[in-house]
Amino acid sequence: MNEKYWNPKIETMKLDELKKLQLERLKAVIKRAYENNEVYRRRFKDAGLKPEDIKTLDDIQKVPFLTKDELRKYYPFGLVCVPMDEVVELHASSGTTGKPVVGTYTKNDLEVWSEVMARIMYTAGIRKKDRFQNAFGYGLFTGAHGFEKGAQKIGALVIPTSSGNTLRQLQLMKDFETTALGCTPSYAAYMAEVAEKEGYDIEKDFKLKVAMCGAEAWSDEMKRKIEEKWGISTFDNYGLTEIIGPGVSVECEEHDGLHINADHFYVEVIDPKTGEVLEPGEKGELVFTTLTKEAFPSIRFRTKDLSILIEDECSCGRTLPRHVRLLGRADDMMKVRGVIVFPKQIEEAIMKVEGTSENYQIIKYKSGVMTQLKVKVEPDPGFKGDKNDLAKRIQDQIYGILNLKVGVEIVNIGDIPRSTGKAKRVIEE
Ligand SMILES: [Zn+2]
Repeated sequence: MNEKYWNPKIETMKLDELKKLQLERLKAVIKRAYENNEVYRRRFKDAGLKPEDIKTLDDIQKVPFLTKDELRKYYPFGLVCVPMDEVVELHASSGTTGKPVVGTYTKNDLEVWSEVMARIMYTAGIRKKDRFQNAFGYGLFTGAHGFEKGAQKIGALVIPTSSGNTLRQLQLMKDFETTALGCTPSYAAYMAEVAEKEGYDIEKDFKLKVAMCGAEAWSDEMKRKIEEKWGISTFDNYGLTEIIGPGVSVECEEHDGLHINADHFYVEVIDPKTGEVLEPGEKGELVFTTLTKEAFPSIRFRTKDLSILIEDECSCGRTLPRHVRLLGRADDMMKVRGVIVFPKQIEEAIMKVEGTSENYQIIKYKSGVMTQLKVKVEPDPGFKGDKNDLAKRIQDQIYGILNLKVGVEIVNIGDIPRSTGKAKRVIEE
């Protein structure tokens, strides 16, 4: 087997061949959805579309978009395209803002999921000899289960710690000689903080080489900080329950965008306002179509996640198209005095200032009719300088990036709640 790629045939396939494969699979998935699911059939009919109308990849633009609200409308099994006794596993998103999104999987879907997970983990350098500590939360969420399947497919050892219980997490990481970690970026940062506080010598006590972080939009500064604290490489990866869970895309060793497993997930980038499909290089909303899923095919699902598609070849040799690291989720977007703000931009500004830690919180509040922001930041434990000066430097940095004046308060170490899963960075007052 080729040492560098998990699936060399697919990962280095010529773009025109890949497009041929995508078209063949697209035709098949549209046909399957049309023939086996009433909701899809009605939606296609309303759009005046028959499966045989899909003759080229561009014909996908005739298919109506699928939104999260619609998924909720057909909760829980309205879009399932196989008899329910073919479904062998299900997962669900948290559903904090309504009904959860339910992902269902046939045996073959689990095969596909294991394959794409193995591919992204192998791309991040995880091999059979590795010991993978799975610190994503086990349960209904997709994260932990996807990584477990991928690691086992590679033949690595899975240590299913789940999230939380940080002291035990670190003890096991040391005792079991964990080499690879999977968790949210904020938890990776928090674990390093606890390790330092508990007196671990991170370099000597741990064998960790790599972390696969995801499920949050994290800034380059946060990424660098996690890498420095642990002395490891981190690999951003992307996925969502509506598509398959994690396994949609991953950074390669070039760390210049995330390669999309485009043989299984067809990507479009659209203008979020008009729905018009944009060219590679243009910023817009990611839209995915699952090309091979049986139980729950997502066809033109609008993710609300903003990114840019890259079709140029990557120096790693993979031909799979890439998207840039997420600029932010549309759901996280705030409009403050006419300025569009993503929490990730504030994170970037804070962490660029010397003397800050990765612990911060954004408070959104109303002053009259105006939305305003203030930011609470904990200093780095080693910070000895003047707090007012630190606050001023953060304020200037934010102004430099967003052209927006934001109040900054330096709080005591430990004041910002820590997260073992997805961090809640924005609080509404
Ligand atoms: Zn690459």
